[in-house]
Amino acid sequence: MQLYEQTIFSLQQMLKQRQVSSVEITKAMLNRIEATDSAINAFITVTPEQALKDAKAADQMIASGQAATLTGIPVALKDIFLTDGIRTTCASRMLDNFIAPYDATAWGRMKVQGAVLLGKLNQDEFAMGSSCENSAFGLTRNPWNQDHIPGGSSGGSAAAIAAQQAVATLGTDTGGSIRQPASHCGCVGLKPTYGRVSRYGVISYASSLDQVGPMTRDVTDAALLLGAIAGYDPKDSTSVDCPVPDYHSALKNDLKGMKIGLPKEYFIDGLDPDVQKAMDQAIATCRSLGAEFVEISLPHTNYAVATYYLIATAEASSNLARYEGVRFGHRSETSSGLIDMMMQSRAEGFGAEVKRRIMLGTYALSSGYYDAYYLKAQKVRTLIQRDFIEAFKSVDILLTPVAPTPAFRIGEKTSDPLQMYLSDIFTIPVNLAGICGISVPAGFSKDGLPIGLQLLGRPFGEESILRAAYSFEQATEWHTKKAAL
Ligand code: GLN
Repeated sequence: MQLYEQTIFSLQQMLKQRQVSSVEITKAMLNRIEATDSAINAFITVTPEQALKDAKAADQMIASGQAATLTGIPVALKDIFLTDGIRTTCASRMLDNFIAPYDATAWGRMKVQGAVLLGKLNQDEFAMGSSCENSAFGLTRNPWNQDHIPGGSSGGSAAAIAAQQAVATLGTDTGGSIRQPASHCGCVGLKPTYGRVSRYGVISYASSLDQVGPMTRDVTDAALLLGAIAGYDPKDSTSVDCPVPDYHSALKNDLKGMKIGLPKEYFIDGLDPDVQKAMDQAIATCRSLGAEFVEISLPHTNYAVATYYLIATAEASSNLARYEGVRFGHRSETSSGLIDMMMQSRAEGFGAEVKRRIMLGTYALSSGYYDAYYLKAQKVRTLIQRDFIEAFKSVDILLTPVAPTPAFRIGEKTSDPLQMYLSDIFTIPVNLAGICGISVPAGFSKDGLPIGLQLLGRPFGEESILRAAYSFEQATEWHTKKAAL
């Protein structure tokens, strides 16, 4: 096996036994990026000098007996995470030349452990999208089939794993942006409970929904990386002050006694037959491992997409007001006067989808429409949340598809935003409810595109979805398959 194909867990052992150095692993990854990224475009910025410097420091940490979980492991970050002294664009022209003045907490926690930063990954602009086509730095291609999208918005984070350009990456998930690209690229993606991981230093999209999480080759690595980034942060008032369990030791290979709910609203007629088949097989596998299945109902599921696109755009319109060309970001050079400068800067700096969302959100919040749209959406959000609370009274976790279809073709949905929004139907309710969810590889379509399985847990129930995902993974071989590049 090549160095670039290894996991956090396997590299940890190899580093500990001095079979390899972090500098060697890092060079292997940088060569791999060099060889593959002209085809995939997973990276917006590659940081080879920084990476080699970090790797040398990590080797010293290991030599002096100070190794932690991530010491010497080469990783990459969605370009939404602020990285001290390194360009952070959020895939927008608006932040084209923005050098972050400090680190996001999640990255800071990895950095103190000695993780090695390979670079910053492509995404949909300001995390708005489901295909990674809304980037000012060009689209990212799916390593399994380059005519297809990798999913979004954390498309670069998923594609980099599938193309074996990074051992692990971080993404963010506001409405599915970790789980859906993980599903489309055949990797593991975990959206933690709202409040589990600090959002400090993560560029805000919709603050009541945004959450940071790991994207990895397997479930063990997801548990290791979550353990490194989770926990209370006084700098993020929405992070929750409760102890971080040892996620790695929660990985029991056993589903005996676990009650899994199948929400009937998620197994609909329009489901792609290959996705349906993968779900049927997964259910059979989990059953053979001792799980018990129960059909349940989440009756307000149908309202989730509409609710989400009102709340997310409303919050986005407010969050994105800070980009006015005065303090940071793009400033128009062709404007006259202050107001014109702000308007021109925004007109030039934002892409079409971001503008669409700002307009939608501003409309939903405007007086006269606030009650009809925003307030109503907030009420429906509570109903959706209650659906899950009710369901978790009778089952431990839920099993659903991640997306109704495998990765679609590049360009297929760009002219029809509504179709694009609808592809988030199974991931969005999870963010509205604030619960946790994981996507695990569960098969392939006839055309060889990966299909993911979604497991949902109670608030702060990451251990149970990790355990179920791990048991499923150990019983199947989907996670061992590799895209030919
Ligand atoms: N596709 C959804 C959107 O465009 C979700 C994006 C996300 O989770 N960041 O809003």
